[in-house]
Amino acid sequence: MDRPGWHPHLWHPFTQVATAAPPLRVVRGEGALLELDDGRRLIDAISSWWVTLHGHGEPSIAAAIASQARRLEQVGFSDFRHPAAEQLAERLAACSGLERLFFSDNGSTAVEVALKIAWQWWRNRGEPRQQLIAFEGAYHGDTFGAMAVGERSLFSEAFEPLLFAVARAPWPATWWDDDGVEAREAAALARLEQLLETPTAAVILEPLLQGAGGMALVSESFLRRVEALVRASGALLIADEVMTGFGRSGHLFACQRAGIRPDLMALSKGLTGGFLPMGVTLAREAIYAGFIGTAPGLTLFHGHSFTANPLGCAAALASLDLLQELPERHQQFEARHRPHLEALARHRLVRRPRLLGSVAAFEVATDQPGYLNPVGPRLQRLALERGVFLRPLGQVVYLLPPLCLDDDQLTHCYAVIDAALSSL
Ligand SMILES: *Cc1c(COP(=O)(O)O)cnc(C)c1O
Repeated sequence: MDRPGWHPHLWHPFTQVATAAPPLRVVRGEGALLELDDGRRLIDAISSWWVTLHGHGEPSIAAAIASQARRLEQVGFSDFRHPAAEQLAERLAACSGLERLFFSDNGSTAVEVALKIAWQWWRNRGEPRQQLIAFEGAYHGDTFGAMAVGERSLFSEAFEPLLFAVARAPWPATWWDDDGVEAREAAALARLEQLLETPTAAVILEPLLQGAGGMALVSESFLRRVEALVRASGALLIADEVMTGFGRSGHLFACQRAGIRPDLMALSKGLTGGFLPMGVTLAREAIYAGFIGTAPGLTLFHGHSFTANPLGCAAALASLDLLQELPERHQQFEARHRPHLEALARHRLVRRPRLLGSVAAFEVATDQPGYLNPVGPRLQRLALERGVFLRPLGQVVYLLPPLCLDDDQLTHCYAVIDAALSSL
């Protein structure tokens, strides 16, 4: 099965070897740049799948990990706790308003844990609720529970019979100069209200911006009205901020930008600045209280070998330091994108431009929208030839760069997209 350009022992995610171009071989990362083994340097315009928050090789995070590794690299978290985990829990509680922190290993598990907590919380109260509600187009990860609440798609097709049932409300995505949004929002809210007539354990959403579902933005006021409906029904609200968290929305958390307060929040990706895999699920103290008691069945029986890995905690603390010491870097990114996106929006092939914090997106005019639209790989190839790494979602093209990206690099990204579009 050896194929030229592919390693004989590696199996890549989301990748069809029969049709994909072989992966590029990276030997180094620095700031916004990736260096390939042939010496080429690429701007990492999607932050290595949205995780590299500040930049590659960020020295303060690298130093924090090294120093932690010399002190304590790992310890079981049922019988022990350690200072790095305590500090991280205290700081995330202070900046999110959610008092309890449960650790896991990635975004999917952070979502799994939120779902299990919500489900079991109702059961622990002796009032089990059977319905979960998610939104159309949602992506919450690739483990089974996370897949079940995500939109059913080609990604989940093979596992369909194994996925639990989820009620689904429309996601009224919007963009610049969108005059149909009010009607779509009203229809979505009416549908959600109807679904909430069935006793519901939890509603899960990606606040403000659905990521993998196509960088689909909703209005802040829509989210506030969703929150009001969820509150009125008594259901728990789960915010999946795996992508939007840690400054991506221009605020520390997208929930804060929208003015909503969830009961549970899933975080990962930017948590460690993109250095180490770690996920956390934050919960209100009242949720935690529902798991305390002498009956063994009240316990949250979930855990991972690497729960609260000290290296991950140290990286996360150093990353938070940077976010808090240089807040203008995430707060001002949207204003830096805006003039570029305004200019690009005039290109004849650009549709539905939208912008949130450091994430700018648009769609390429096409009559066959979808993840498999060939315009994505074509644009990706054209941009790569010009030194910019993009990874369009079908016809949806987006920039989601590390916060260290400088003005020249940002200008270059837009120029490359413009040139690539023109040579389509
Ligand atoms: C990436 C992502 C996940 C899954 O995180 P992994 O670390 O890839 O498992 C979940 N939710 C959202 C919103 C994401 O963007």
